[in-house]
Amino acid sequence: MKTIIEPFKIKSVEPIKFTTVEDRQEILHEAGYNPFLIHAEDVLIDLLTDSGTSAMSSKQWAGIMDGDESYAGARSFFRFEKIAKEITGFKYIIPTHQGRAAEKILFTILGGPGKYFPNNTHFDTTRANIEFSGAEAVDFLTPIGKDTSTIADFKGNMDIEKLEQFIKEKGRENIPLVMITITNNAGGGQPVSMDNIRKTKEVAAKYGIPLFLDACRFAENAFFIKKREKGYENKSAKEIAKEIFSYADGCTMSAKKDALVNMGGFLGINNDDLAMKARNILIVTEGFPTYGGLAGRDLEAMAQGLEEILDEHYLTYRIRSVEYLGEKLTAVGVPILQPPGGHAIYLDAKRFLPNIPAHQYPGQSIVCELYKTGGIRSVEIGSVMFGKTEKNTGRFIPSALELVRLAIPRRVYTQSHIDYVIESVQEVFNNRSKLPGYKITYEAPMLRHFTAQFEPIKL
Ligand SMILES: *Cc1c(COP(=O)(O)O)cnc(C)c1O
Repeated sequence: MKTIIEPFKIKSVEPIKFTTVEDRQEILHEAGYNPFLIHAEDVLIDLLTDSGTSAMSSKQWAGIMDGDESYAGARSFFRFEKIAKEITGFKYIIPTHQGRAAEKILFTILGGPGKYFPNNTHFDTTRANIEFSGAEAVDFLTPIGKDTSTIADFKGNMDIEKLEQFIKEKGRENIPLVMITITNNAGGGQPVSMDNIRKTKEVAAKYGIPLFLDACRFAENAFFIKKREKGYENKSAKEIAKEIFSYADGCTMSAKKDALVNMGGFLGINNDDLAMKARNILIVTEGFPTYGGLAGRDLEAMAQGLEEILDEHYLTYRIRSVEYLGEKLTAVGVPILQPPGGHAIYLDAKRFLPNIPAHQYPGQSIVCELYKTGGIRSVEIGSVMFGKTEKNTGRFIPSALELVRLAIPRRVYTQSHIDYVIESVQEVFNNRSKLPGYKITYEAPMLRHFTAQFEPIKL
C-alpha cells in the first residue's frame, strides 16, 4: 500500500516563529511553567487542542466573503440548515456560537435539582452546564475504557447494564435525557460502536427517555465504525453518520471540531415543544433563530465544513495521521493510551515517569519538557486538572489517570511536523530520568489548570 497523503494542496501559509531551547526555558519560567500562559506565537507546534484550530478550505474562505449578513432569514442560514438536516435528520436545527452554548440552552430547559443526566463520559463543559443547573452528571463508561493499555475497537462505549440499573433506581421521571458523546473526548477520543448506540437507544426508549448525542466528532466516529464494525465496511461515512443520528432525538454540536470552523455550533432537536423553548432562550442569550450568535459568514463556512467533513479521503488521512503518531511513539517504547483515538494521542505519564508521584504532577513535567525541548505545546490531563486536596484532612486525591494530550488540529500540520513531534517526544523520553516533579505555587479556586503557577522541584 502507498503512503496515505494529505488530501489537499497548501495555498496559503502562516509562518511559525523559531525559538531556541534557551529562549523557551526563559519563556517557560516567565509563564510559571504553565503552557496556557505562553503566548501562542512562542509555540512552534501547537497541540493544545483540536477545537477551533482547523484550517479552512478555499471554499470555506470563499464562503466567508459570500456570507449573507441579513439579520433574519439569511441565505447562509438556509444553506447551513439544509446540510445539517440532511446529515442529522433532525426537524429543528438551532445555531449557537459554540457547543457549550447549545448545552447551556438544553440544560437550562431540562436540568435542575433532582435531575440526572447519564453519558458514556461527559465532557467538562457538558458536566459544568448540567451541574450549574443543579442537576447531576453521571458517567457509565464501559469498564475496558478505563484501561489505558488494552487495545480494543470501541473503548468509548456506554455500559448499558449500568445505565439501565441506574434508570430503574432513580426513576425515568428524573432522567430528562440520556447522552452519548462521539467520539468520547474525555475518554481518550475513543469511538462508540453502532451496536452500542442502537442498544443505548433501545434502553432509553423502553423507559420513554430521549437519546441525545454530543456529536462534536461524529464524522471521525462514523469512520471508525466503517473501519472496525462488521457490516459497515461497504457503507459510506455519510450513510453511517446518518444511521448514527437516526437513533437520536437530538444533539449538541461544537462545529469547532467536525465542522472544520474556528467558531460555531448547533442544537438539533426533533421535539416541537422542546425546540420552541430552546428558540425562546436562544433569542434572549444568543440571537435570532436564523443566526444564533454567529455571523452569516460563519454559517456559510460551517455549511461548507459539513459538506467536506464526510469525505473519505479526508477521514482516511485524518485517522491515519493520528494513528501514525501513536504507532511511531509506541515503536520507540513511549507509553501511550491505546489504541490511538480520533483526534489526539495521550501520553501515559504514570508509565512515562514512574518515579514522579502524582502529587508532583508527572504530566506537567512532560508538558514543560516537551515545550522546552521542541517548542511543542501540549496539555496535562491528570492531577493538575482533576486532582483535589481534601479540605479537612489535607490529603491529596490524585486523578485516576495521568495523561498528556497531544491534540492534532485538522488539516494544519504535515507529516514532517508530526515527525518532528515524534523526535521531540522521543528525546524527552530518553531524558526521562532527569525530569523534575513540580509543585503548585498559585492556584485559583476553580478550574485551576488554566491559570496555576508551578515551580520545578530541585532534584
Ligand atoms: C469541545 C467539546 C464541547 C464544547 O464545545 P465548545 O465549542 O468548546 O463550547 C462539548 N463536548 C465535547 C465532547 C467537546 O469536545
